[in-house]
Amino acid sequence: MPVYADSLQNLINLLNRLPGIGPKSAERLAFFIVKMSDDERQQLIKALMEVKSGIKQCAICGQWNSNSPCKICGDAKRDHSFLSVVAETQDLAAVERTNEFHGIYHVLGGTLNPLTGITADDLNIKSLLARLQKNQPAIKEVIFALNPDVEGETTILYLAKILKPFKIKLTRLARGLPLGADLEYADEVTLADAFKGRRTL
Ligand SMILES: [Zn+2]
Repeated sequence: MPVYADSLQNLINLLNRLPGIGPKSAERLAFFIVKMSDDERQQLIKALMEVKSGIKQCAICGQWNSNSPCKICGDAKRDHSFLSVVAETQDLAAVERTNEFHGIYHVLGGTLNPLTGITADDLNIKSLLARLQKNQPAIKEVIFALNPDVEGETTILYLAKILKPFKIKLTRLARGLPLGADLEYADEVTLADAFKGRRTL
């Protein structure tokens, strides 16, 4: 016997598919939405409907933002000889908040993960290689700013291997971020320090 009305169960199932949302959280969110005022719920519906039309993936770095090329890729004042490789747009945003890095980025769209079947073909690696091959303007250093976890480490090892022939300086963030930490949620000072103390691979 189903406990909830079909429409409510449907919402719970959809919310349950979001990352980090288990069945209990999905239930709690669904009830929160049910109890919202009509006006608040309309705002949420509107935001969901418009979210995709308002953003584009930058054709150069792969980040999600309002323009392509994005503001960062098109900014001549930034140092285009330093390229920071990050997993997601949220990580780019975290690095930007530190005010420590003034170069450009490449967003992989994830990290290698054999358990969930994410392979090199699923990530924006071809476009990274194309950028380095073009090397216009010249890139002096590639900084791997990935989460200090198994997936991040695996990705760094893989990229270090395939980028070796380019003979560009490859660095990674200093240890200091706790193991398993999420770059996205790291505090700004810790992340800035990790950038300052980066190590050559
Ligand atoms: Zn861009």
